[in-house]
Amino acid sequence: MKIRYFDNAATTRVKEEVLKEMLPFFSEKYGNPSSMYSIGRISRRAVEEARAKVAKMINANPSEIYFTGCGSESDNTIIKGIAYANKARGRHIITSKIEHPAVLHTCQALENQGFEVTYLDVNSEGLIDIDNLRNNIKNDTILISIMFANNEIGTIEPIEDISKIARMYNIPFHTDAVQACGNVPIDVKRMGIDALSLSGHKLYAPKGIGALYVKKGIEFEKFMDGGHQERNKRAGTENVAGIVGLGKACELAEQSMSFHIRYLTELRNYFISEIKNRNFDAKLNGSLKNRLPGNANFAFREVEGENLLLKLDQRGICASAGSACTTGSAAPSHVLKAIGLSDELARGSLRITFGEDNTKEDVDYLLNSLEEILQKS
Ligand code: PLP
Repeated sequence: MKIRYFDNAATTRVKEEVLKEMLPFFSEKYGNPSSMYSIGRISRRAVEEARAKVAKMINANPSEIYFTGCGSESDNTIIKGIAYANKARGRHIITSKIEHPAVLHTCQALENQGFEVTYLDVNSEGLIDIDNLRNNIKNDTILISIMFANNEIGTIEPIEDISKIARMYNIPFHTDAVQACGNVPIDVKRMGIDALSLSGHKLYAPKGIGALYVKKGIEFEKFMDGGHQERNKRAGTENVAGIVGLGKACELAEQSMSFHIRYLTELRNYFISEIKNRNFDAKLNGSLKNRLPGNANFAFREVEGENLLLKLDQRGICASAGSACTTGSAAPSHVLKAIGLSDELARGSLRITFGEDNTKEDVDYLLNSLEEILQKS
């Protein structure tokens, strides 16, 4: 059976060009980047070229990019790292209620260590309120961490408004851009972002490679002790092949950004309009205006999401009921609850995330399958 993959927010397929660049670094170019001899130097050069490509995609300086093992590690490193480096100055952190567990659970771990965390509410579209952010700042606030775009409902937060407030109060601003990188243009300088997390497997690079941007001058304690890699901030021999893959994926993402946005938006808008035209009893979750190009999330009334996913799977369709990281838990999604959905509607929600491999024919197949399944149930 042909697989129709609509779960690009969970992970993406590694692009051929990315894989091709990576392969030599598993075999003939296997030197340790810290070694002085020629094959070590080849690996070092490849790592630094990849760093420059990642930096270019978000308009950072290469010296501000640190390679990590995943988006979760980037979030942990910077949130805990800024908290520990500033604990003498203050212990208050502001984040939002709809963050990914990589941020939420990191903040909860810090609460257990005596830090205080404010979790901002969001409105029915998933947007934080800027006045509410301002009102929650205290003398001892040491970090604001608000995601660039939400992984479940695709809402894009008002990043530049947040950074203006952060700058006004001289508080570092971190954004988890794991879902946004490669899907929307990001310019950390223009947008006033002090720290940013990204992850390879969301932008057509492999799993197990991430990056963290930290603006020069922002202090953070290192998370991993050991050797002096990554300018003494992240010990461990570099994942050279993964780093090369991430660099290539960032380069491709930058080159194809306008096509990517146009193509995914077209597929998404077609899907959203057909859900209405075909009279499904469904409500779009999140914002139509401030939304990632490839995200559609619908709450279907009187439908059990897990059951719907199983029936889609029988037809070769991969989709998600919430985020991949929360499947397996019986509790309704914290994001859908935060935007005001009832437990029942939250449980009947379906997340469709389009990617560059999807076609209009795939979307028609999905719509027809949904019609069949929902008419039968
Ligand atoms: N942050 C967001 C918004 C995500 O969507 C994810 C993964 O789904 C992560 C962080 C974690 O990234 P990784 O899987 O690379 O640890």
